[in-house]
Amino acid sequence: MKIDPKSIKLNTATNPFHVVGLCTAEVHAKYNGSGTPFDDFDNFKMVSCDGHMEGPLNCSFVGHVSGEDIYKDPEEIKKLFEEKGFSLCSYTITRDVQPIYSLVDPPRYLYKYIPKKVRCSGCRSRFFHTKLESDYIETGIDEDGEEQGYLEENKCPFCKKIDCCVVEFEKPKEDYDL
Ligand SMILES: [Zn+2]
Repeated sequence: MKIDPKSIKLNTATNPFHVVGLCTAEVHAKYNGSGTPFDDFDNFKMVSCDGHMEGPLNCSFVGHVSGEDIYKDPEEIKKLFEEKGFSLCSYTITRDVQPIYSLVDPPRYLYKYIPKKVRCSGCRSRFFHTKLESDYIETGIDEDGEEQGYLEENKCPFCKKIDCCVVEFEKPKEDYDL
């Protein structure tokens, strides 16, 4: 199998990988209503509140924002607080980024192989090598508690014969002039 030269890309993933974590929203708002303002509502928890009970109260809220877009829209946030008698002073969202470490460095290049037709030695079907299947067959757990199994590779998609054809994959070069 030949690597498709057009598909070779520098892998921009580095070790560690970074994944997006929790979003935290901080809201500072003035309470203009009468009586005690709500302590918390929706995803927001009041963390501080000061001022005179008669006058406007300065309140701070912290909220964990999920993927729901409504909380990323300042106008929606403004509306949410206004409905409860607050006027919004500031609103910030910080997004946590979590590194994931791996013992194996990610590959330097990403690439695809040019699809090539192969023939099954069992049922003689012809199909593209991308249709070849592989399966991990679990056989149980040994006395050390380790999972046991084996890999079935290059299975024919039609008759399921294992190693139904010989495929050799071109190895990527150390360096490409991209
Ligand atoms: Zn077959």
